[in-house]
Amino acid sequence: SIKHVHEYRDGELARQITGAIKKIATHDMRLMEVCGTHTMSIFRHGIRSVLPRQITLLSGPGCPVCVTSQRDIDCFIALASFENTIVTTFGDLMRVPGTVSSLQQEKAKGCDVRIVYSVFDAVEIAAQNPDREVVFCAVGFETTTPTVAASILMADQRHISNFSIHSAHKTTPAALGALMETPGVKIDGFLLPGHVSVITGTSGYKEVFERYRVPSVIAGFEPVDILTAVLMLARQYESKAPALENAYARAVAEEGNMKAKEIMARVFEPCDATWRGIGVIPQSGMALKPAFSSFDALGRFDLKVVDSGEPKGCACGEILMGLRTPESCPLYKRSCTPAHPVGPCMVSSEGSCAAFYRYQG
Ligand code: SF4
Repeated sequence: SIKHVHEYRDGELARQITGAIKKIATHDMRLMEVCGTHTMSIFRHGIRSVLPRQITLLSGPGCPVCVTSQRDIDCFIALASFENTIVTTFGDLMRVPGTVSSLQQEKAKGCDVRIVYSVFDAVEIAAQNPDREVVFCAVGFETTTPTVAASILMADQRHISNFSIHSAHKTTPAALGALMETPGVKIDGFLLPGHVSVITGTSGYKEVFERYRVPSVIAGFEPVDILTAVLMLARQYESKAPALENAYARAVAEEGNMKAKEIMARVFEPCDATWRGIGVIPQSGMALKPAFSSFDALGRFDLKVVDSGEPKGCACGEILMGLRTPESCPLYKRSCTPAHPVGPCMVSSEGSCAAFYRYQG
């Protein structure tokens, strides 16, 4: 068994696992890496090129910026235009194009938009600017939501009443179920996200696994982690014995992080949420509970954002569902580049289009 981190990068071990995959994989199979960090790691280490041709790796809906709906992006931008408001955000949202502008463009126009590295910095900005309204653009999966929940509890405790969030948080297992229900989607195995699973635990996927019985393996991010998970998925698929397995036991426990889950459940409750390109997925979002509704930016500002749909011609939605690859988007590398992105998949460092652009030239 592997005990040291450097062993997860061991070239010889990786070759052995790849050899085992080649022996086992006799049928074509489409495996989806759900998480954007996996996508990046797969590209960085050239994992696609060492796998047998029977195995196709698809990128899934696991880049939090990429799945944020155009309407939510437009809401963030609209919030920035309110006088007396400071909009705080993680850096990767800045350049995501909304319908007519972006947070970066609003900042250039003179709006007060600030990049923070932690939501607690946003709370601090609110504490230091009691006569201004401070809004945090809350996107992210189970990895991010508990921290945002903790920041709300902190603001509540410190009676910081000029802090609010617009929650576009989403949950991962709900998205997997929605994918399986989408016509045309064909997924033979899920490479489940490592970081998210630290919070949800293996148990977080039980329901969706029992329902669809698709081979599912939680994976870490080193090459050996990913290859091991692919081997396990291939084994399950070839033996027609789907299972929910954990190949990242050094970080992921069966029940996950109970404390983080408890904080999340104190502040947020599930709600229907719109995912870019996928549409509304029931109970896949996280809304502030009524007890914390005073921290909801939508209740404080009179936002007039119409749903104007996604950028014309952008295939981010289909790419997030594994229905297309970036090269098949007519805008890819033409009117859409990292310098001039049309969709979020080209902006975010975890986006599929950005990964293809960077590593496939
Ligand atoms: Fe959207 Fe650009 Fe990707 Fe096409 S290449 S899907 S326009 S982000």
